[in-house]
Amino acid sequence: MTKYIVVAGGVISGVGKGVTTAALGKIIKENGYKTTLIKIDPYINCDAGTLRPTEHGEVWVTDDGGEIDQDLGTYERFLDQSIPKKNNITTGQIYKAVIDRERAGGYLGQTVQFVPHITNEVISRIKDAADGYDVAVIEIGGTVGDFENKPFFFAVKALERELGSDNVAYVLVCYLPVPAHIHEMKTKPALQAIRLLNEEGISPDFIVCRSQYAIDEIRKNKIETYAHIPSDHVIAAPDIDTIYQIPLDLERERVGAKMLKKLNLVSKRTPDWSAWQLRVDAIKNPAKRVRIGIVGKYLSTGDYSLTDSYLSIDQALIHAGAQLNVGIDVVWLDAQSVCIPHVTELQSDSSSAKSELQSLDGIIVPGGFGVAGVEGKIAVIQYAREHNIPYLGLCYGMQLAAVEFARNVCGLRDAHTTEVNAQTEHPIIDILPLQKKLIDDNAYGGTMRLGAYAAHVQPGSKVAALYRAARAIDMNDMVIERHRHRYEMNPAYVALLEQHGLRFSGRYLRADATQLMEFLELPDHPFFVATQAHPEFNSRFSNPNPLFYGFVKAAIVSKQE
Ligand code: GLN
Repeated sequence: MTKYIVVAGGVISGVGKGVTTAALGKIIKENGYKTTLIKIDPYINCDAGTLRPTEHGEVWVTDDGGEIDQDLGTYERFLDQSIPKKNNITTGQIYKAVIDRERAGGYLGQTVQFVPHITNEVISRIKDAADGYDVAVIEIGGTVGDFENKPFFFAVKALERELGSDNVAYVLVCYLPVPAHIHEMKTKPALQAIRLLNEEGISPDFIVCRSQYAIDEIRKNKIETYAHIPSDHVIAAPDIDTIYQIPLDLERERVGAKMLKKLNLVSKRTPDWSAWQLRVDAIKNPAKRVRIGIVGKYLSTGDYSLTDSYLSIDQALIHAGAQLNVGIDVVWLDAQSVCIPHVTELQSDSSSAKSELQSLDGIIVPGGFGVAGVEGKIAVIQYAREHNIPYLGLCYGMQLAAVEFARNVCGLRDAHTTEVNAQTEHPIIDILPLQKKLIDDNAYGGTMRLGAYAAHVQPGSKVAALYRAARAIDMNDMVIERHRHRYEMNPAYVALLEQHGLRFSGRYLRADATQLMEFLELPDHPFFVATQAHPEFNSRFSNPNPLFYGFVKAAIVSKQE
């Protein structure tokens, strides 16, 4: 039987509930239990694919093609384990399933109601995701007291009634503000969150106190008394330098042992955190540092600009850096203001764009959509290519690298992607007939090439060497990465670009015998590698992605030179 740990948030969201969930899962897994993590999102979207990244953060893509909230990414990065799309449950999915079933006559004669039909649907989805695991950690999105997450609290309470309280543990992650004008940590909002949770019939077993500082004994006691729990179940969680510190901090408070005890489990093996600790140390005190430019679109929400839309890339760089003992300074370059029409204009010493680019040890052009910032990205790619700066192109970053090469090396001045210029004489990047039909039918939800695809990489190529070194390639030279895009490298131009020195070093072989270009590289450049995939979705703290690892390594060499 699966045991459950339910993680809820109090006071405000965005204080590390997802990371706490991931860290708890990691701790339980380290104790020898088969563990999975489940994210409940109370919004009515069926998935995150249609949400605005600048508002909600990046869309995470699973192996099985789900477009999901980025918390699932945090889970995978901590657990070093793929998590399928069914582990993300949204209100939209629940209601859609119940209403579809009602229309299909699945409840004939019954009045279909919030309780039990909606709540039972929640329970059955939780059980389905948890099936086969010893422990499932469930994170309930939002904060306790939100209208939207009521059905989910009801469902986990019902699960507790069914399984017994030995088999379900509740963790409340609260925020304790320290208002600047009084310089004192306030517990009141946390106490109110506890009360709101009590109103759902739930008493927390653990309270994680997120704050700028570690909570002191006086305040711990206050919370302990109010929540009727032992004070050693009130856990300090002050701000830290790196999220990967959190499992170590929780273990210092022996949260793993206490949690296992609460769930009536005994540890099956003693966790060994030494390798994890080494990586954390490398993040905190790296032997050296490199500067990596990420050329993206940074739209702001109100007064805040969200770099969260590139979270997985940032994390993948950190993972590679932790393994190489190098700190990563990310320089966020706005593609729309870099906007240098031609690199020749970068030659003037007064150009701030030029000095910005000169200071970089490596450049990434990440995934993207639409026309905004495209010329800026192309100009930066040209700069990286001509100045031997390590370059890593991700999805749009590969497509635009091909466009840049076609324009400036093959002399096709008009070359473009038809996403930006449908009339171009040289559609280097174009849409496949199948995807075109989906767009014409206006079916935007979940219609891209999504999820894991296996590519055949060319033996002897740089890409093959990188995957081989990471033991991430199989006997048939196949590598697997995740995708999220509509456009592809146009097969009609592959030969021409290759004649001019570009190498398409990995291909997806379709059942209809056509090939899709998955990787490209420049053999004579220190590191110029791009992929149609999103390797950032396949990088774990203990197991960095080979392309990011190779890129950061090349950036170190570039800096030394
Ligand atoms: N806009 C491009 C496409 O749809 C690239 C997508 C991406 O970078 N994720 O193919």
